[in-house]
Amino acid sequence: MANMRRGNFIPMAMLVGSEDVPSYLPPAFHVMLKPSGPICNLDCTYCFYLRKEHLYDKGTSFYMPDDVLEEFTRQYIEAQQVDEVHFGWQGGEPTLMGLDFFRKVVELQQKHRKPGMKIKNSFQTNGVLLDDEWCRFFKEHDFLVGLSMDGPKELHDAYRVDKGGKPTFEKVYRALNLLQKHGVEFNILCVVNRINADHPLRVYGFFKSEGVQFIQFIPAVEGTQDGVTDWTVRPDQWGKFLCAVFDEWVRKDVGKIFVQQFEVALEAWLGFEPSLCVHSKTCGNCLAMEHNGDLFSCDHFVYPDYYLGNIMETPLMQLVASPFQRRFGLDKRDKLPRYCLQCPVLFACNGGCPKDRFIKTPDGEDGLNYLCAGYKRFFNHIDPYMRLMANLLRQGQPAWLIKEVLRQKEQPKQKVGPNDPCPCGSRRKFKKCCMNKV
Ligand code: SF4
Ligand code: SF4
Repeated sequence: MANMRRGNFIPMAMLVGSEDVPSYLPPAFHVMLKPSGPICNLDCTYCFYLRKEHLYDKGTSFYMPDDVLEEFTRQYIEAQQVDEVHFGWQGGEPTLMGLDFFRKVVELQQKHRKPGMKIKNSFQTNGVLLDDEWCRFFKEHDFLVGLSMDGPKELHDAYRVDKGGKPTFEKVYRALNLLQKHGVEFNILCVVNRINADHPLRVYGFFKSEGVQFIQFIPAVEGTQDGVTDWTVRPDQWGKFLCAVFDEWVRKDVGKIFVQQFEVALEAWLGFEPSLCVHSKTCGNCLAMEHNGDLFSCDHFVYPDYYLGNIMETPLMQLVASPFQRRFGLDKRDKLPRYCLQCPVLFACNGGCPKDRFIKTPDGEDGLNYLCAGYKRFFNHIDPYMRLMANLLRQGQPAWLIKEVLRQKEQPKQKVGPNDPCPCGSRRKFKKCCMNKV
């Protein structure tokens, strides 16, 4: 590992022999790329990336060199056993690399692409540097852009400030409009923190009024020795936030607006494994790579203990398939406390992200997720609605018919009687179908 500060450190992936899992290369995996390391042009209060700067020696150039970029591109494509390969660009702030860097990215992807392989890029940005040229590039090369925005101005500006502590909403709002003007595919990544969590409908309503169709809510959580930081969302806030947004969405927006948490929950109620790592049974297939080729187990575990090796020295495939990385992913399931194993919503929650498992269960066992109370509230609240949507889908009906069912039940214009056909289209009587399910 080129110049990370950690004394005589042996990459964990090399410690074979002491592990109880064999090497295994998943057919597809994802590496979150940090071409500018942790460097960013903003200074958001809750950002954990900025604190990573100190992991590297003073004077380190946080700029991914051409040889690392090409080597990663080649190895990453070679390792994937699927027809569509996703590159994820993150930071810090990736726009700081400049557009020419990403022109090179696209060229190298074409150079190393296997015949018939599709390549997609996703690009997470704070939006401040976006302009027409960036947006034309995104559109031309079919990038999916994630724009970080925490709601309307007063809520967004609570924590998302620049290096001088000044608000950033106007610049980010400009970026949102530019993305829309150029028809770039984008989603909003909204960090739910101690302040905006009390305003779920203002946050959601704002995005909706701006025509946003894809939203991800990410809970802001950081544990400290004394508890949590003062911007960390409280578990009850997180649960109430999700429930309030869900109640609005399920009545008005299913099929029109896609909220990642709700889509992923529906997967669980349909009997599939949730596709979001936070709620999947195991993880370990979403790694992170620094500007210099240093590979870590996950973007949330960029610490010396989770350093797998450098792709310029050890093949990426070997690092991903290493017993250490497999164990990292399996621990998500294997280290669940008994409290989770007995939980009725385990199938949807799976204990949440290991980085947030720092509280004790009611009977004193370690390893419970700090957000547990919020997750419990949310998953229990959505249960009847999810069952209904899952049933609709199993019957070959669209999930959005739930809006009609709820409208009939809650504010019928022309009341549907218990013996009338169910509005979900099942051809069964309302009383025998959806009437008592929600
Ligand atoms: S540690 Fe958390 S964020 Fe990282 S891959 Fe696992 S679940 Fe996902
Ligand atoms: S809701 Fe709580 S108890 Fe249930 S699986 Fe999630 S973290 Fe564990």
